[in-house]
Amino acid sequence: MGINSVMADISPIRLVIHGGAGAIKRGKLKAELEHAYTQALAQSLMAGYAVLAAGGSSIDAVIAAIVVMEDCPLFNAGKGSVFSHTGRNELEASIMEGSTLMAGAVAAVTTIRNPILAAHAVMTKSTHVMLMGEGAEAFAAEQGLAIVDPSYFYTQFRWDQLQKAIAKEHVLRDHDAGVLLPDEHEKRGTVGAVALDRHGNLAAGTSTGGLTNKRFGRVGDSPIIGAGTYADNRSVAVSATGTGEMFIRAAAAFHTAAQVRLQHKPIADAANNVLAEIAAMGGDGGLIVLDAEGNHAMCFNTIGMYRGVIGSDGIARVGIFPGAETPTPEK
Ligand code: ASP
Repeated sequence: MGINSVMADISPIRLVIHGGAGAIKRGKLKAELEHAYTQALAQSLMAGYAVLAAGGSSIDAVIAAIVVMEDCPLFNAGKGSVFSHTGRNELEASIMEGSTLMAGAVAAVTTIRNPILAAHAVMTKSTHVMLMGEGAEAFAAEQGLAIVDPSYFYTQFRWDQLQKAIAKEHVLRDHDAGVLLPDEHEKRGTVGAVALDRHGNLAAGTSTGGLTNKRFGRVGDSPIIGAGTYADNRSVAVSATGTGEMFIRAAAAFHTAAQVRLQHKPIADAANNVLAEIAAMGGDGGLIVLDAEGNHAMCFNTIGMYRGVIGSDGIARVGIFPGAETPTPEK
């Protein structure tokens, strides 16, 4: 079978999402906030599911799910992005289609409301894979995407988080625990989605504000194809969250896919092998993985990972801490 192995509308549909992995302490996450996350994750799942259930593509489902999280201030992507050292919000995103291995990404953008849409435009409307900074912003504007004043991304608690980080003179991953981030409100992350559509096609996408207090135009794993995002119908779709530098060094998303495709590893084993390599480098985080038969894994070596899954039954299941994901209660 070639890469373009399209089945005739017989595939199960599935969408898996994450909203960041980190040291979210059980019991410290206030019930109200936990409820807000649960609802936001469910909303994202339902948005992507609506696309898949209507026979739409996995790419469109990934976009629909991620846009909901980019527009929600709870997550470190789009609206809720963290601040860099210079007090800017520098956003990154990438997307990839498993049937064609087409991909698009943007990095260091400050005015694009939904970076995942810009990544998709790069994939579909340009001959390039990654655009950055002002060039990416000019391209997004040309494509008619929503451009906002950088102040759109201002949220008080992210600003306060930057002030704390500067005070401690430390580069933080936004959801790290411990002395630097004593407040549970700060342990929030990058977002990502992987989807399988009725045609048997996989897609993956990831979007982030990166790290609080990041400097010098730092770019993480999220916009890098093969590190934060990968999709190949012959193996799996993957989206990552965690300590970006180590995910880049481990080629985390591609490495997961390669083990499945070339070594025929079970998907969770492949993801856990990569997380073990990352741990050996001193990093941590999580990976969501979905194969072309609809099998999925949500692996993390942190205390928790905001995550969710929805399949053909249309029931949104979400989880934060280890253990099975559970159906979301009505509002
Ligand atoms: N991987 C992201 C980065 O390093 C951070 C995260 O996942 O929270 O930019």
